[in-house]
Amino acid sequence: MIATTIAAPRPGIRLHSDDDSARCQTRSGGSVSISSDGKDCLVSPRLRLVAPLTPITSSNLLSEIRWFNLTVVTITPLLSLYGLWTTQIRYATLAFSVCTNVHSIVLCLDIDPGITAGYHRLWSHRSYNASLPLQYFLAIAGAGSVQGAIRWWAHGHRSHHRYTDTDLDPYSAQKGLFWSHIGWMLVKPRVPPGRADVRDLSRNQVVQWQRKYYFHLALVVGIIIPWVIPGYLWGDWRGGLYIAGFLRITTVHHSTFSVNSIAHWLGESSFDDKHTPRDHFVTALLTLGEGYHNFHHQFPMDYRNAVKWYQFDPTKWFIALCAYVGLASHLQIFPDNEIRKGELAMSLKRLKEVQDGITWPLRSDDLPVISWETFKEESRTRPLVLMSGFIHDISEILDKHPGGRELLENAVGTDTTSAFLGGVYDHSHAAHNLLSTMRVGALHGGLEQVDPNAITPGQKLYVAES
Ligand SMILES: [Zn+2]
Ligand SMILES: [Zn+2]
Repeated sequence: MIATTIAAPRPGIRLHSDDDSARCQTRSGGSVSISSDGKDCLVSPRLRLVAPLTPITSSNLLSEIRWFNLTVVTITPLLSLYGLWTTQIRYATLAFSVCTNVHSIVLCLDIDPGITAGYHRLWSHRSYNASLPLQYFLAIAGAGSVQGAIRWWAHGHRSHHRYTDTDLDPYSAQKGLFWSHIGWMLVKPRVPPGRADVRDLSRNQVVQWQRKYYFHLALVVGIIIPWVIPGYLWGDWRGGLYIAGFLRITTVHHSTFSVNSIAHWLGESSFDDKHTPRDHFVTALLTLGEGYHNFHHQFPMDYRNAVKWYQFDPTKWFIALCAYVGLASHLQIFPDNEIRKGELAMSLKRLKEVQDGITWPLRSDDLPVISWETFKEESRTRPLVLMSGFIHDISEILDKHPGGRELLENAVGTDTTSAFLGGVYDHSHAAHNLLSTMRVGALHGGLEQVDPNAITPGQKLYVAES
């Protein structure tokens, strides 16, 4: 017998699947598979053009180390530890190193606006315009953090954003926490970092000025000023050198390094989960607001990293304050509508994980099609009822139904749709959901159009993937 089935639609919200794939043409005429974000089109052809260095082994380790970087990032913490061990800490020096040194004149909470507000949000991302006085302040403060000149730093960071998590990402989180935190600067990269356009910085007079005098500025602002002021003003020469100098540099180093490591490892993917950046309050505390890194990678031109008013982002407050007093302008804000789209997509993904853990009723396509005559015939030997075009075996609830066994037995072999939905009793959504789990067949020719009640209340907002 040929039978028709009830085509139960899958209503709901459709998400794009992560395993969507496509192909792209390379310049040489070949093609490579690409992921949904298209990164392989960008990365694979470039990787073919570079000759990776041989892996680091014990025999070539010494020649592969970047000795200058290694010296800077090991000497400063060692001298800090020596200073902490041998120097009596004076509160005035400690307060000076945190709040009143050149890097934090404006906002005591933000110990390094030179890097966060300057190197990162101004020069790497152009998320606002800064007046010349502010640019010079940030360039000087940034040099005092001893992290390289603006142009070099911004090139690496733009490359990180462009090639996030790939082999061309200079501090790819895919290579482990140690590598992304500090390892990447200790040895020569096996693959050169991906190119990024920094021509705008090459034309910037402040950037060029800072590049020219970088080592002088780093020495004067990073070491000499923090050393001399506590020494002259309250006689704490040792504290000035070790606490306000080396310890502050060490702290600022690892604060910045944490953006590349911990901010790609700890927390939530609040706006997108294509890559590793995460949002977390602890990272925000460690990095002066840069810890809402998932937001930042999604909306890098936004001058904020923390988009919620209650989130900790002193760099955002610093930039807003500069704008208020006329030192900054054109603060970039990504459209709120697009930000909410990202949040919604991630909320739906989380809901889908919950949804996938739930057992749902069988669809008409998955059920045998049963004629009315067969339904009536089988109802004599087992308790079957019809509801919204589906046949249900209600043996499980015969003795549990609040209305009593007799009521259900009277309904066996009949269409109970109207009785179930209010004719006799307007059942709860939970009862409707439960009954749908007892489906054993779809009635042949049961309904010409899909009964809206065939979609159970629990499935009305079903999240589906496209
Ligand atoms: Zn990042
Ligand atoms: Zn960035």
